Amino acid sequence: MSARRIWAALQAYEQTHGSNDGTYWLWFELLWRDNFRMLHRQHGPQLYAARGLSNLPQPSHFPKDFQRWCSGQTGEPIVDAGMRELAATGFTSNRMRQIVASFLVHDLSCDWRAGAAWFESQLVDFDVYSNQGNWLYVSGRGTDPRQGRRFNPTKQTQDHDPQGRYQKVWL
Ligand SMILES: Cc1cc2nc3c(=O)[nH]c(=O)nc-3n(C[C@H](O)[C@H](O)[C@H](O)COP(=O)(O)OP(=O)(O)OC[C@H]3O[C@@H](n4cnc5c(N)ncnc54)[C@H](O)[C@@H]3O)c2cc1C
Repeated sequence: MSARRIWAALQAYEQTHGSNDGTYWLWFELLWRDNFRMLHRQHGPQLYAARGLSNLPQPSHFPKDFQRWCSGQTGEPIVDAGMRELAATGFTSNRMRQIVASFLVHDLSCDWRAGAAWFESQLVDFDVYSNQGNWLYVSGRGTDPRQGRRFNPTKQTQDHDPQGRYQKVWL
């Protein structure tokens, strides 16, 4: 199913039923998807360089920490739950992808490209444009002027899994 087809169906739906939060967000997320495709047309191989599009220093990397992250054994419960879900099912939500990616890059100070490669080996919905684009975005090496998106695991847990139900499933 193509993004165009979804967009056409969305428009038809809105003409009959009106727009709502759901139709808005579906359209908005499809823009992200297109954005990352366009970014590849514009910048090509530069998106795969260690610095990405930024002037930031080369990323550091700590292989043991990276291994702990891959196997869901960092000691940070929400991150470990997400990484174990990913390993067991090949999928995790967009929210969890952002949390675990941020943790690898901003808390463990590991190379974002190793994280992208791990996702590539695990995701059932792997898509080179969306994966690379999102990793660049989280690590602050894409086009985002904020130069990096750190997600605070404690706040994310309070906001999205306050009763620990998700963590209980995967830990
Ligand atoms: C680090 C990281 C890596 C990712 N790697 C991939 C990947 O390899 N393949 C992939 O398809 N998506 C990837 N995503 C984007 C996003 O997580 C998935 O598209 C989303 O989880 C799919 O769930 P959904 O179909 O319920 O999306 P919904 O939220 O219902 O959105 C509808 C559609 O919009 C698109 N979309 C939504 N969010 C994003 C986004 N952040 N970036 C690009 N497109 C988006 C997808 O096509 C999605 O199916 C990644 C996100 C992050 C943060």
